[in-house]
Amino acid sequence: MIPRIHLAHLPTPLLRLRALDERFGVELWIKRDDVTGGAEAGNKLRKLEFLLARAIAERADVVLTCGGIQSNHARATALAAARVGMRSVLFLRMQDPREPLPLTGNVMLDRLVGAEIRRISVDEWRERDLLMQNAAVALEQRGARPFVIPEGGSNGLGSLGYVEAMREVREQIDLGLAGTPKPFDFVVHACGSGGTAAGVALGASKHQVAPKTIAMAVCDDVAYFQKRIDRIIEEARGIDRTLGAAPYVVDDAAKGPAYAVASEEQKAFIVDVARSSGLLFDPVYTGKALFGLALAIKRGTVPLGSRVLFLHTGGLPGLLADGEAFRTLI
Ligand SMILES: *Cc1c(COP(=O)(O)O)cnc(C)c1O
Repeated sequence: MIPRIHLAHLPTPLLRLRALDERFGVELWIKRDDVTGGAEAGNKLRKLEFLLARAIAERADVVLTCGGIQSNHARATALAAARVGMRSVLFLRMQDPREPLPLTGNVMLDRLVGAEIRRISVDEWRERDLLMQNAAVALEQRGARPFVIPEGGSNGLGSLGYVEAMREVREQIDLGLAGTPKPFDFVVHACGSGGTAAGVALGASKHQVAPKTIAMAVCDDVAYFQKRIDRIIEEARGIDRTLGAAPYVVDDAAKGPAYAVASEEQKAFIVDVARSSGLLFDPVYTGKALFGLALAIKRGTVPLGSRVLFLHTGGLPGLLADGEAFRTLI
């Protein structure tokens, strides 16, 4: 047994709305991983169930991780670490690290639970793994027991959270909670550091949830993510030998202008979907991924009438910190 602690409120609901079916022209099921918890919710919590279990087994007392300034992963890590009695050190990327911290959205929550934040530049970000490793060594020399979690919690161990999520979906299918007791045709989700994509691909195959998974890139490109996802899949197989093939596709048609920047069309789409469904998608991850699904349906990559499972991976705190970007639309 691979150690796992209980952090997320599971199983998360599966939701199907007539308005979304009509809008997209497919049978669209939303897996509500945006409600894996309260403020700590989102996809990262599933990975942290495995990552923090390992940290506890190693008797760590401080976790180090990194991300963009409004990182959902850093926030989930800070909150979960506080819950298990550990300190956290977050390396957050800023255009200008001399600027004061914006005390909004995820950053507000990080500070609220006492996370130590180290602002790093875009240049320093390239050396993030080394930076965290060096900081861990320095903490050790001062008598602490550090545990480093990579960007997004995306390594083989963290990805097991999404293998388990696919087991959960399989149980929901078997219980009749996903309409007809048939697998889905596609699982679609946002991809930012590759751990979710690796776990979903491995789990969808192992538990026969869908023959194909689509990782919607929110930055970088197809080649970058294929390399990362393949490496995480190999790592996961090293931990769990029962994991087999993992057919997945990376789609970067909806990555938008830049990481954490959505196009005007994408923002208008997010507003429109919110008004017709009551569901909130964020401009960094889930809004782009759902927009990507609409494009894939238009292209025919995802045929009309398909049975689609869309993973809602969270991101609400980042949305709440980004109101100005929506000023002309709302
Ligand atoms: C981190 C994140 C993702 C992407 O997951 P990865 O495993 O990092 O690829 C998607 N959606 C939200 C809301 C996230 O915070």
